[in-house]
Amino acid sequence: MLNTPLQEAIKTTARHLRRLEEMGIKTVEDFLKYLPRAYTDSREVRKISELTLGETNIIRAKLLSFSTKQSFRGRMPITTGLFADDSGNVQTVWFNQPYLSRVLQEGKEYLLSGKLKMGKGSVALQNPVYELVRPDALHMARIVPVYPETELERAGTNKRKTPGRISSKWIREKLYPLLRFAEEIPEFLPEEIRKRHRLLPLSAALRAVHFPRTEAELAAGRRRLAFDELFILQLTALHRKLEWRRMHSKKQIPANWELIKRFAESLPWPLTKAQKKAVYEILRDLEKPYPMSRLLEGDVGSGKTVVAAAAILAATQTGYQTCLLAPTEILSRQHMRTLEKVLKPFNIEPRLLVGALSSSEKKRIYTAIEGGEIKLVVGTHALLQEKLTFKNLGLAIIDEQHRFGVRQREILKTHGSPHMFFLTATPIPRTLALVLYGEHDLSTLDEMPPGRKPVVTRIVPEEKRRDAYTWIDKEIEKGRQAFIIFPLIDPSPLLETKAATAEWQRLSQEVFPNRCVGLLHGQMYPEEKDSTMEAFRSHKIDILVSTAVVEVGVDVPNATIMMIEGAERFGLAQLHQFRGRVGRGAHESFCFLFVSSQQGRSLSEVQRLQALVRYNSGFKLAEIDLQLRGPGEVYGTAQSGIPDLRMANLNDAKQISETREVAEKILAEDPELKNYPELRLKIAEQENIAIDY
Ligand code: ADP
Ligand code: MG
Repeated sequence: MLNTPLQEAIKTTARHLRRLEEMGIKTVEDFLKYLPRAYTDSREVRKISELTLGETNIIRAKLLSFSTKQSFRGRMPITTGLFADDSGNVQTVWFNQPYLSRVLQEGKEYLLSGKLKMGKGSVALQNPVYELVRPDALHMARIVPVYPETELERAGTNKRKTPGRISSKWIREKLYPLLRFAEEIPEFLPEEIRKRHRLLPLSAALRAVHFPRTEAELAAGRRRLAFDELFILQLTALHRKLEWRRMHSKKQIPANWELIKRFAESLPWPLTKAQKKAVYEILRDLEKPYPMSRLLEGDVGSGKTVVAAAAILAATQTGYQTCLLAPTEILSRQHMRTLEKVLKPFNIEPRLLVGALSSSEKKRIYTAIEGGEIKLVVGTHALLQEKLTFKNLGLAIIDEQHRFGVRQREILKTHGSPHMFFLTATPIPRTLALVLYGEHDLSTLDEMPPGRKPVVTRIVPEEKRRDAYTWIDKEIEKGRQAFIIFPLIDPSPLLETKAATAEWQRLSQEVFPNRCVGLLHGQMYPEEKDSTMEAFRSHKIDILVSTAVVEVGVDVPNATIMMIEGAERFGLAQLHQFRGRVGRGAHESFCFLFVSSQQGRSLSEVQRLQALVRYNSGFKLAEIDLQLRGPGEVYGTAQSGIPDLRMANLNDAKQISETREVAEKILAEDPELKNYPELRLKIAEQENIAIDY
């Protein structure tokens, strides 16, 4: 049965079972859903007479005889065999596989796959993989599934090959007999959808992707499973969106275009086209009889804060309270400064609510929020306190929304279903955004304010390190500031990468003895981090040595140099974020990339860095990163809530829109999915995954 624990369904060792459990495989059903990551086509079986020297050949032949001898010096057993088909005979030779003499059976027919090589005076298939002929071949003479057997190693938990590692061959052997249980997996797609989109039944699709007989069967199986992944994701998102809309909040905010025009005119510069469009979309949303749920995607420096300010203005003029939630105190204070400036002419005075305030101060603010005296509150997690009640929260804005868990974000929603507005500086290609953020409406700032010079980006070879330091020193002489980023806090004997603490010592004492060099890393107390960051912002520090904790979104216009050590260790999106810390002022800015060592760099690492040199747009870089590494690695499954898409291809715009249409249609006819209990169940499963981070 599907929920039979594996130890009852297959014969294996406790170690293997443990290993499987680590891979999330506990039951027959889990095992059936462990899908191949790739396939090798080894369908061509040759006659012995057609064997080619030096090539890997597959034959089907009878074992006439075999024997095992100790090698010269007696160190290693050597097993030789003689195989025959109707075209001729061939020798085989296996080195150091003593158990063979126990498993090979004379007179039986085998499939063999190995290289034909010239030995001492004779040719033989060397160390061939063998498999007894049975009704269905599993390991060769077919399209062979390759499983993500080394998943745990790739995750970085263990770089070495561990004994008890689960091989693809092992999986094929154990999984095959369990395939018949695929029948029991309930079909959740309505028959009519399956027919219309010509999709295999789920059980057939699973069989097809594990052990396809033909390419067509494999393609059909994959298409069905990919359809499921994209369909369920989007159905879940759209369902959530409908639920949200059903709230029927009466917090309608009539658009006051005249006011917004005055706001735009009060700014020191004109809004960009993209900003205008986003403001328009938001104001339209706020008028609707249900709460907004909109995500604003925009590169670092694209001017999201002003768009947020326009929304705040719209909400406050109708008498509603608004709040802006930011992940850190530094960012909260920065928003405070901006909002104070741009909203002053409109008599809106933001108040700050952060953990660092005294408890009596906090209490006073809570009371004023409850009483409605505070119209706009800006703050950190302190805003998520249960004690906090709003008089009439009309709009909640969440900056760097991915930094908050779903649960945390949900808290703000409970304050009488305000309009929700999310901001993110992690640009995501549109196709991906559709799938991931289907529950939100999307606005994008795909344009930078004019006059911003692109940051000059260079990969710097080690021999030029001195020159780079000299350059930095000259910039500092001119009154500028620099960031130097390291992948690690402390040096690690395992990694050939520079670390922040040790390098900070060296840089402050030997390289820049006349400059003030600050240090920032994740193991410092939040107050220490904040005061260091503040010291850098107010130019008490010239050079800030930091790990990746250096805040996303921190605005220090006087900083013009971003130097990144061990750049290959960072993702492209992250590198782009770092680079976004500079180039925010009037001065030309530079980004220097250093790699830990030239040796052993993978092509994708090199391409990533080259892409950074070449492109300045976060959207473009996100697309490239997605192609080079796939969504799981780019956005980190756990953090972003991006589910593990085994079969679906996020570059397949056609299937994404096809599945979206199906999801929209079903929900249009049956918004609560009353007639689709199986789909409701799928959504519940999905919500669990999505909320659990
Ligand atoms: P982000 O999208 O990264 O949050 P900010 O809102 O912090 O960007 O804006 C970055 C900088 O650009 C700020 O200093 C802001 O004052 C400025 N800015 C925003 N909009 C414009 C504009 N339309 N023209 C010129 N400068 C702008
Ligand atoms: Mg910002």
